[in-house]
Amino acid sequence: MDQWRKDIRDSINDVETLERVLGVPANEVRDIVDRYPVRITPAVLKMIKEKGDPIWKQVVPTSQEGESDSACHSGDPLHEEKDSPVPNLVHRYPDRVLLFVTNQCPIYCRFCTRKRFVGSPGMLTPDELSQVVNYLSARTEVRDIILSGGDPLMVADVLLERILGALRAISHIEIIRFGTRVPGTLPSRITDAFCAMIKRYHPIYMNLHFNHPDEITPEVALACNKLADAGVPLGSQTVLLAGVNDDPTVMKRLMQKLLAIRVKPYYIYQADLVAGTHHFRTRVETGLKIITALRGHTSGMAVPHYVIDAPGGGGKVALLPRDVLWSISDKEVFVKNYEDKIISYPQPDLQGGAASWAEDLQALSVIAQPFLED
Ligand SMILES: *Cc1c(COP(=O)(O)O)cnc(C)c1O
Ligand code: SF4
Repeated sequence: MDQWRKDIRDSINDVETLERVLGVPANEVRDIVDRYPVRITPAVLKMIKEKGDPIWKQVVPTSQEGESDSACHSGDPLHEEKDSPVPNLVHRYPDRVLLFVTNQCPIYCRFCTRKRFVGSPGMLTPDELSQVVNYLSARTEVRDIILSGGDPLMVADVLLERILGALRAISHIEIIRFGTRVPGTLPSRITDAFCAMIKRYHPIYMNLHFNHPDEITPEVALACNKLADAGVPLGSQTVLLAGVNDDPTVMKRLMQKLLAIRVKPYYIYQADLVAGTHHFRTRVETGLKIITALRGHTSGMAVPHYVIDAPGGGGKVALLPRDVLWSISDKEVFVKNYEDKIISYPQPDLQGGAASWAEDLQALSVIAQPFLED
């Protein structure tokens, strides 16, 4: 058996093991885990230093996932299902598409946008793949495809190669990207054989998922180096998470450490409005303050785009401190997307009171003004 398969087998994936290894009472989280599965790989378990630390918070289930607030009620806040012309494919933007190849992931992040289906059995069937290929063959405007899920690197090399071969047979597809958390959480998956296979399908890009500097261990660095040596340009995607990385010092360290392992920071995402994840949300001011703390203070290479994936399928909107439309209400901000559409992003409750909010706005040099929703 491959080492990475053994690592999956040896992961924590039930409440009894969770109780035995991490001391989380099984009864407190049994209902949650029935709905939203748990998996913690040996590599991630080693990153946890103490109960409740930033790694723990990302992977250990809590009863808060059973709560919902009025903004975070949807299983599919980005309306991915509405924008899906054939099963498993999301076609939202003019020239690129997103393909779900499996529901499996190396770990089940408690804040996941796709909490509605990750961890359930299922991967792209040969029949579904041919529907996708038929659709894409007729869409000559599509030049970029992103393999996602779940995590596409959970699929065996031979099956992945079948998908890559089918996509490479479509001449107008110029680039293939992977969105994956595997190198940072199941580094044993990045074998020499996998790297040799990937090289045959270039140009391949990978956007890796990292949220905290403690995730960059020597074995993770080695996996990233192997991919970079195989000629795969590496980017990172980070989700801004309360209690994990909502701090400029932590974020700066993460971005710098990513560059040191040849991963170029690409996106920091504002948390989506996903049912069962409200406790991870931060206010938009927090993200803007992080960008302000990065820009100019460290390598420009270390500064990603800070984006809101606009609720309802509006697409990603990059936020710069002066491009947010501030309403006089502390309950929401408005963002303008690439089609000049104005969309409301409801904010979690203000913690520090009106005076602290006024201070934040002043520090960001913005003036709140009455704003009409159209
Ligand atoms: C994020 C995303 C993409 C890719 O967007 P980029 O900004 O090009 O990285 C494509 N399709 C969908 C549906 C997405 O959510
Ligand atoms: S690896 Fe990605 S898709 Fe899987 S649970 Fe984590 S955030 Fe969701």
